[in-house]
Amino acid sequence: MNIEQFYPLFLQSDKVTIDSRKIGKNDIFFAFSGDNFNAATLAEKAADDGALAVIVEQPEFENKVRNIFYVPSTLEFLQQLAIHHRNQLSIPVIGLTGSNGKTTTKEIIHAVLSEKFDVQYTSGNLNNHIGVPLTILSIKPEHEMAVIEMGANHQKEIELLCTISQPDFGYITNFGKAHLEGFGGFEGVIKGKSELYDYLKNNQRTVVVNENDPIQVEKTENYTPKITFGKDSSDYQFGLFSEEHFVGLEFQGTEAISKLTGEYNFTNLCAAASLGLHFGISFEKIKNAIENYTPTNMRSQVVKKEGRTLVLDTYNANPSSMTASLHNFVTFEGRKTVIIGDMLELGEESEKEHQNILKLALELAFDQIITVGKNFKAVNLSALSFENTAELIEYLQQNKIDSENILLKGSRGIALEKSIEFI
Ligand code: ATP
Ligand code: MG
Repeated sequence: MNIEQFYPLFLQSDKVTIDSRKIGKNDIFFAFSGDNFNAATLAEKAADDGALAVIVEQPEFENKVRNIFYVPSTLEFLQQLAIHHRNQLSIPVIGLTGSNGKTTTKEIIHAVLSEKFDVQYTSGNLNNHIGVPLTILSIKPEHEMAVIEMGANHQKEIELLCTISQPDFGYITNFGKAHLEGFGGFEGVIKGKSELYDYLKNNQRTVVVNENDPIQVEKTENYTPKITFGKDSSDYQFGLFSEEHFVGLEFQGTEAISKLTGEYNFTNLCAAASLGLHFGISFEKIKNAIENYTPTNMRSQVVKKEGRTLVLDTYNANPSSMTASLHNFVTFEGRKTVIIGDMLELGEESEKEHQNILKLALELAFDQIITVGKNFKAVNLSALSFENTAELIEYLQQNKIDSENILLKGSRGIALEKSIEFI
């Protein structure tokens, strides 16, 4: 089965999925062989249930059942199909990567551009070698633009994702200390993320640059075309302000206040506003989008609970986002408790980074510091420490936290959000 032969069938389908629980009648199912299930069994069931097509890598299916197609590698076929589809599209595609803030920035860009256009965008956090092709394949004829989140934890991954998504515009949210293990240290992070810049440069596509970030400036010197924000000399200049922990941006005398906490979200907003202005959306409309966007995804989310303020940042954590989060939280008025969970995937630097964060938390003099996870526990500085979230919950069932402000931040694997109902 080759891509050109298969493409007309794809065009007839409603969607492409790799999730056997989500197959609709007119869908194409890619059966990936996972550890826990038998792809062949799922494939047959999907075919019986009326999927439009099922793609498998089990040779025994070759020419066996009408709507089951054998390919040597489902992953490669998915990626190639996405590339083929991308090649047919003539809409602007915006690609995003960076260590922190990709999903948030993607969501805000989507909100801003949707003021004027029908925009397709990455669903949730589907930002890897499977998620990016799925997102590309979800672009339909009615879409006028697409925003694609690209995640990576090792070299050459962004290069591959660029080959698939072929962004016309690209933005790197920041270079931070995340996935240090896979990238080979901070220099490795810069190199790996910059594969987006390489793609843009080699293909004369537009780079979006935060001119207040020296690494971004250095890495994109002499690039054209370029959209810049940050400095006085930039294309777009925004002022930062905040109102009750929420970040806002000002443009030519008009203020827009978001529902996001943390100053680090300022640049995320700036990137979205710059793209909006670039595509001819008035700042009034951009303001509307920014003010109406409500995070619900455990990223920089502020919720009130029994008169107290909870900052939920439990989606993920690494040294840079943790540092930013602590500095933001310290500005809250009233008593403050921080509940911080381990930062995973840090490799050799793990012990040092956990030590640094705990030291920072102590320096910032929070009223109470609670750590969750083996890494923080091993550092053994004066903080209340639990091995895991279950232990934290046990503690919370016996002890009430009396601070007016509580920050929860930790890596996905720690799942601190499970403790929320016990706080
Ligand atoms: P993932 O790698 O899981 O896809 P992501 O890059 O999509 O992460 P988000 O989920 O948007 O990032 O944000 C995660 C957290 O990173 C936020 O809750 C916040 O603490 C922090 N963060 C967001 N934006 C920035 C930024 N521009 N600079 C530094 N930290 C940020
Ligand atoms: Mg993300």
